[in-house]
Amino acid sequence: MVVVMKPGTLQKDIDQLVAKLQEMDLSVGITNGVGCTILGLVGDTTAVDMDKISINPHVERVMRVQEPYKKANRKFHPEDTVVEVGGVPIGGGNFAVIAGPCSVESEAQICAVAEDVKRSGAAMLRGGAFKPRTSPYSFQGMGSAGLDLLMEAREKTGLPIVTEIMDPRLADLFEREVDVVQVGARNMQNFELLKEVGKMSKPVLLKRGLSNTYEEWIMSAEYIMAGGNENVILCERGIRTFETYTRNTLDVSAIPAVKRMSHLPIIVDPSHSAGMYWMVEPLAMAAIAAGADGLIIEVHNDPPHAKCDGQQSLTPENFDRLMGKVGALVDLMGKKLVK
Ligand code: PEP
Ligand code: MN
Repeated sequence: MVVVMKPGTLQKDIDQLVAKLQEMDLSVGITNGVGCTILGLVGDTTAVDMDKISINPHVERVMRVQEPYKKANRKFHPEDTVVEVGGVPIGGGNFAVIAGPCSVESEAQICAVAEDVKRSGAAMLRGGAFKPRTSPYSFQGMGSAGLDLLMEAREKTGLPIVTEIMDPRLADLFEREVDVVQVGARNMQNFELLKEVGKMSKPVLLKRGLSNTYEEWIMSAEYIMAGGNENVILCERGIRTFETYTRNTLDVSAIPAVKRMSHLPIIVDPSHSAGMYWMVEPLAMAAIAAGADGLIIEVHNDPPHAKCDGQQSLTPENFDRLMGKVGALVDLMGKKLVK
């Protein structure tokens, strides 16, 4: 962090600020330029509140030269993190596909889709039991009965289950029953929820918020990691832009950018990005080519009658076809498709 003092600041005022910064366990390098003094702060500045420094009347400007995240930072952890989910590795050259319906609707539906996606090569089963819906009149999910059905599908197929948590009060239930705890886009900055999943032992799938920057997203991962849970998988799921043709805009740049910023695995959700089933395949291919560590794809055995997101769901047949292409491209990228 660099602090630029106002021209003409008295030495006693500089000394006073330097002493305060040293109390924060930082070493301070002082450079006296023409008419102004610059302080270079060395040490762990992640917890330093820049606003508290810039409020000093003698300070002209405060600039961060280091990222405000530490645990998620590639700088301090150069190797890729590999997150293990029930024996399935994601990241570090291991590519995993998570597939299943937007929401769990019935025993027959979730078990049939689970069998189908497993046969096609999915490594995990997704399905929402608690759904974040824009309208209070839309289907809200089956709740804990949905979790029971996911567990039944896991029992039948051996696929680990991925499902969204919205309420921090359900952390114990999710800890017991779920393999990967999903934090949805709308809750990416629900800090109380992030703190709660930070205490869990289960890996977390952290979706990018609808309008959040890479840094804000990684800071949310930092919340979870700071709580003790370092098994975070990031998920780019499309962001809000001025374009209305697609449901969201898949930000392909997020993949190489976030990989440079962080060592955490990053997967892509082409279903929520596109909002249209026929666009899922090209976006999935783009994600693999850009270096993603996996995909999460919505698959439904009767999309026209789906209770949620049927328009963007692949049929099991289309998913199977897609998986053939996914396998070939993952191979070309020198990665391993894990099952
Ligand atoms: C979902 O995965 O079903 C979902 C609601 O996703 P998002 O949080 O990305 O909108
Ligand atoms: Mn959905």
